[in-house]
Amino acid sequence: MHKTKLRGLAKIDWLSLSRLPPTIWAAAQVIDDVMTASPENEWKIENASHLKGVRLHFRRYTQWSESWDHDHCAACWATFAEFEGLDIQHEGYAAYHLKDACYEWICQACFDDLKGNMEWTADDT
Ligand SMILES: [Zn+2]
Repeated sequence: MHKTKLRGLAKIDWLSLSRLPPTIWAAAQVIDDVMTASPENEWKIENASHLKGVRLHFRRYTQWSESWDHDHCAACWATFAEFEGLDIQHEGYAAYHLKDACYEWICQACFDDLKGNMEWTADDT
């Protein structure tokens, strides 16, 4: 599972980082400690903390626009896209509640791992 963490970190890109709330930046200052000393899911819970308690909608990933061809899992940074590729997710749980972003995505694995902590509910529409 440690390998999974590292793979997730490698997918962080600065566009996605810029969309994170300030609390995440504070957390990033101790990212090394978090990555090595915390329970397996804690860093994902931190990443997705702004989505706590939301209702999610299971759906196939569709590209947002011509120039915005992928998104990342809000918790583990897995990549969602329509194109085929290594570790590309094609369906997952979308959150529509955010006013300045049309949706965010949670991958199947994170939904299963974190739904208890994050108080997530989901439907399949
Ligand atoms: Zn995920």
